[in-house]
Amino acid sequence: MRLDKYLADMTPYSRKEIKILLKQKRVQVNDALIKDSKFQVDEVKDKVVLDGIAINYQTFFYYMMNKPEDVLSATQDKQDTTVIDLLQDDDYREDLFPVGRLDKDTTGLVVLTNDGQLAHRLLSPKHHVPKLYEASIEGVVDEADVARFAKGIQLTDFKTQPAVLTILETTATTSSVQVQITEGKFHQVKRMFGAIEKPVLTLDRIQMGQLKLDPDLALGQYRPLTAEELVALQ
Ligand code: URA
Repeated sequence: MRLDKYLADMTPYSRKEIKILLKQKRVQVNDALIKDSKFQVDEVKDKVVLDGIAINYQTFFYYMMNKPEDVLSATQDKQDTTVIDLLQDDDYREDLFPVGRLDKDTTGLVVLTNDGQLAHRLLSPKHHVPKLYEASIEGVVDEADVARFAKGIQLTDFKTQPAVLTILETTATTSSVQVQITEGKFHQVKRMFGAIEKPVLTLDRIQMGQLKLDPDLALGQYRPLTAEELVALQ
């Protein structure tokens, strides 16, 4: 990668500031003074030193994104915009991918990373990582539905694990609920509500394991996970 990208990834400096500090002869690569921002560095093998301090290039990256509707949780697609397309150029890396799938019309929390082990842990059925959704539902969800979800819902091909359904608000024709599931089968939440004949109108993921969607992130926005959030995900 380019030296200025490497330094932008690993320091608080902007590209503009990096250009200046390169000119000021503050950067060495493998003990040679480098002033060219386009100089190519290998982030694993090369030793980059700024102001006499060696930089340890981070090889894993973690972001949370608030996925908007009509965006695919995939890496690339011929027709539709993907969550990876929403990354700014400076954050884009070929190896980043979304952890798990949200439907095209589902909004909310998606973790983007290049750490396959973390993705595996979060998705593996063995680990039962709970996922929390907020949904608006057509029809009046009641305590009988809460009990049915708690027992597990029989779908055409499998019975779900017990799910925690919380009623937030109901009107004469709709309900606003939270639902926590520990699996992540295709269209699972929609199918569970389909099974009780109360279709999902909107679905928004707000939490995975201990990781909560940052309420300051507007739809389409993302930010790196903090060190604490990353620990909480492990
Ligand atoms: N369940 C669904 O039905 N859709 C999603 O996107 C996620 C969970």
